[in-house]
Amino acid sequence: MTSATPQTAATAADPIDAVRLREDFPILAEQVNGHRLVYLDSAATSQRPLPVLDAERDFLEHTNAAVHRGAHTLAAEATDLFEDARATVAGFVGADAEQLVWTSGATMGLNLVAYSIGGASASSSLALRPGDEIVTTAIEHHANLIPWQELALRTGAVLRHIPAHDDGTLDLAAAAEIIGPRTRIVAFTHVSNVLGIINPVEEIIALAHQVGALTVMDACQSAPHLPLDLPALGVDLAVFSGHKMMGPYGVGGLYGRAEVLEAMPPFLTGGSMITTVTLDRAEYLPPPQRFEAGTQPIGPAIGLAAAVRYLDGIGLERIHAHETMLAERMRAGLVEIPGIRLLGDPSTGSVERVGLWSFDVEGVHAHDAGQFLDARGIAVRVGHHCAAPLHTRYGVTASVRASTALYNTPDDVDALLDAVRGIRPYFG
Ligand code: PLP
Repeated sequence: MTSATPQTAATAADPIDAVRLREDFPILAEQVNGHRLVYLDSAATSQRPLPVLDAERDFLEHTNAAVHRGAHTLAAEATDLFEDARATVAGFVGADAEQLVWTSGATMGLNLVAYSIGGASASSSLALRPGDEIVTTAIEHHANLIPWQELALRTGAVLRHIPAHDDGTLDLAAAAEIIGPRTRIVAFTHVSNVLGIINPVEEIIALAHQVGALTVMDACQSAPHLPLDLPALGVDLAVFSGHKMMGPYGVGGLYGRAEVLEAMPPFLTGGSMITTVTLDRAEYLPPPQRFEAGTQPIGPAIGLAAAVRYLDGIGLERIHAHETMLAERMRAGLVEIPGIRLLGDPSTGSVERVGLWSFDVEGVHAHDAGQFLDARGIAVRVGHHCAAPLHTRYGVTASVRASTALYNTPDDVDALLDAVRGIRPYFG
């Protein structure tokens, strides 16, 4: 393999050398519309470093075979790589291999959980009854909202929401009122994909567990940016998405506490998840295979293991410190530009964040602003970022979101700020 290696000798306190790390990401050398690519859309999808590209290609060139049950050498080797990848990715979030179910992404993981619970037999501790309550929050991505709406519709459960303050933080006093004896599930995001705020998930988990409710955490926007220890956090179930954490598309993880996964019936059924099958019925494998019907994303899983090794090699604390520095530079610049309104209170120094900001440009539609930036080589996301209710909360239908990753530099942020200064004058 020709992979570049991340900086390994550094301690947690050493700043990362983003300029050096950029060399690991071939796409960052691209020119877009005659400009150097300034990629500020990592919350939508991250770029992949050479070790990830190499790992998947290496697997396909040398070891590709369907895993488990194969009688030939390649199948055995592929199985080893696939199961090693499971252990590596599980370890990245502090878990054991049996606690990690492969999914195609976070959306799939959340639907798996909601459909599994919806299919639980009446005698199961997971079964929902009419009047039971599912609690989410007002700041969720649609992926952690609509599956619960559907589950409520199917079971007669009632959906409730923890509201957010104007500054974007969750209203924990309201949460303490809302989470009560009828609450069976509390589903929340660790980090908002619109606000970048790191939610006080320990407190939400404590409130939920006081009433015996199941906790489901969307870790999509935290897994690539913060050190995570899901068992230590005590959350019951959590999902993350490979392509947002420097890994390939089409793979993600569902973490579950062993007792919870054990109690969950399968969502999808078919090959690879059974022990015995007759024409009339089937017995299922224990977790995680119980939830992995059909051929799994083997190459992508191996690529994701390479991605988490890459992140770990740099260190999540260093990555977080770097991205926080970029976010602060972005905030300080954006608040000085007339007509720019950041979503969530930009003056709240006490709120912990990852490196992203969403903003509204007065008098200019987010799509126009996005195109203006694109013409200057700057890639941002525009729209409601799959969080329409949160945008409604702020009185807008769309915003511009600039999101950073370990490979962004202060120069990237300055290029954004320079360009944003020109938006309103241009559109007059
Ligand atoms: N949850 C959050 C917070 C997200 O940001 C995203 C992606 O934008 C998702 C869930 C869905 O992830 P995926 O599309 O990879 O399934």
